[in-house]
Amino acid sequence: MTANLLILGGTTEATALAGALAQTGVRGTVSFAGRVARPARQPLPQRVGGFGGPQGLAAHLEAEGVTHLIDATHPFAAQMSANAVAAAEAKGVPLIALTRPPWAPRPGDRWIRVPSLAAAAEALARPACTVLLAVGRVHLNVFAGAPQHRYVLRLIDPPASPPPFPDHRVLIDRGPFDAAADRAMMAAEGVRIVVSKNSGGTGAYGKIEAARALGLPVILIDRPAAPPRREAGSVAEVMDWLDAHAGAERGV
Ligand code: NAP
Repeated sequence: MTANLLILGGTTEATALAGALAQTGVRGTVSFAGRVARPARQPLPQRVGGFGGPQGLAAHLEAEGVTHLIDATHPFAAQMSANAVAAAEAKGVPLIALTRPPWAPRPGDRWIRVPSLAAAAEALARPACTVLLAVGRVHLNVFAGAPQHRYVLRLIDPPASPPPFPDHRVLIDRGPFDAAADRAMMAAEGVRIVVSKNSGGTGAYGKIEAARALGLPVILIDRPAAPPRREAGSVAEVMDWLDAHAGAERGV
């Protein structure tokens, strides 16, 4: 049996992993949810769209003859990660998650840690100011209860419907973002507070560094709990795991 990998993607790390895998000639597909209009080009074949819950993913694993499942989704993609665990278990397909540690505070950080998007919105119950809201366009409605602020929205695609606050500015851009550029943008926009998920990794860290440099508070949303599963902290670790599990099949 030849190895046939399914990589649940949508992150910088997933793209890096796909690049490393493509070098080895192993067969694999990168899967996207379809949240952004133009996902980053992958060095492996790609597919787009949900599978239809854990049962749908399990059926896909079987139909496509997937031998190894790699969850390289974003740490906030909790549903997909839970589905991956359930489907892999149901079909006896080995699973590994490519993860990144959450950001830890450094001297100068002024973090207000909150457990959820809703709690982040509640933390914005304060006098009007300019807020950098960097949580993705699908979550903007959560902040409808704090319409007094001027919002700077950095998004990959324009919002599908008008954001639920009258005063906003949309910046269309995709990471990785640079701290110096983020600092300049935040100063130019008069940003006074930042709202961010604790995504970890480097691609979205620029705004955190910029907030530190500018002395601004960051409302930082903690990650949802990850399900119990095998995890790797780097592309190299995933490659080692694959060598151990699929080496014979790949002939290495
Ligand atoms: P989610 O809430 O965990 O997933 C919701 C549903 O979207 C899943 O049940 C699944 O539908 C589908 N889905 C999610 N990821 C998929 C993938 N890679 N391939 C195929 N279907 C997928 O996830 P989310 O927060 O919406 O994130 C969606 C994607 O965006 C992920 O690939 C993630 O890596 C990326 N992303 C997320 C964030 C974030 O902050 N959440 C940030 C950057 C990138 P079915 O149940 O129908 O299979």
